[in-house]
Amino acid sequence: MHSTKDPQRRGLLLAAGDSIEAAGERFRQAAQQGRLHALDDAEFAVPGISPGEAVRWAYENGMVNTLDGRAVYEQLMAAPADDRCPLCGQGVVRTLDHFLPKRMFPALCVDPLNLVPACADCNHVKGEVFPSQAETTLLHPYLDRIDQDSWLEASVAEGDPVRLDFFVSPPPSWERVLIERTRHHFALFQLAEVFAVQANRTVSGIRRLLAKMLEAGGVDAVRAYLSEEAATRLAHRLNGWEGVTYRTLARNDAFCSGAFDPAQAAVQRSGSVADVLPGGPGS
Ligand SMILES: [Zn+2]
Repeated sequence: MHSTKDPQRRGLLLAAGDSIEAAGERFRQAAQQGRLHALDDAEFAVPGISPGEAVRWAYENGMVNTLDGRAVYEQLMAAPADDRCPLCGQGVVRTLDHFLPKRMFPALCVDPLNLVPACADCNHVKGEVFPSQAETTLLHPYLDRIDQDSWLEASVAEGDPVRLDFFVSPPPSWERVLIERTRHHFALFQLAEVFAVQANRTVSGIRRLLAKMLEAGGVDAVRAYLSEEAATRLAHRLNGWEGVTYRTLARNDAFCSGAFDPAQAAVQRSGSVADVLPGGPGS
């Protein structure tokens, strides 16, 4: 068992500093050119030590055991607004994920550009995935700033209760590779499912309010309320599931006229209250 406090070993590792710096440079260049998938992991070893040792050393000496390392760690963890995981836009930040896996790229294991705040789910789903092509390179929260454009949409699926289908709807200005990457990212983290669950919970939570609004002010009152809630949320997060949920519901005539309420929706479908009452023909 080697101790990382061993002066000779530390000397060796400190001497590897140059190669770690060069690795960081290669990483940045490839990221800029959209060629992370083309990186050769053989160029990201730390000479003289095995990947496992390199990672352990870096953590013990470069990241959490020194004041600077700890400060960087805490800054990265605290960076996302509302403690929101930047990979899914939903979970709570719990860890720093290695964008390029540390086992393959030990020289990048404490490079801040390779450390991305993540929720536990995303960290688990992503695992040690490495892109095989440009199209399957995940979106990097620091480098791929797509959220100035509106790219998330949803549609209302018929059913009881209503369900939202979320999907990537890229603006015309996006290049093909970015579209493919966003769709791949969306699919890998199962964001359609994650967002649909949240949207359904939202609908359940406002069902009683919507029913009262519909009764008092009709369809227009329901639509106005949903639109205002959408605008408030979209102003905060243009591609957040919250705002997209309200916007989608506000645009849906059936929903605004009562489809939010399963009993009401059944009445609309059958045209008769008797059909949906217990003991009635529809029970
Ligand atoms: Zn997440």
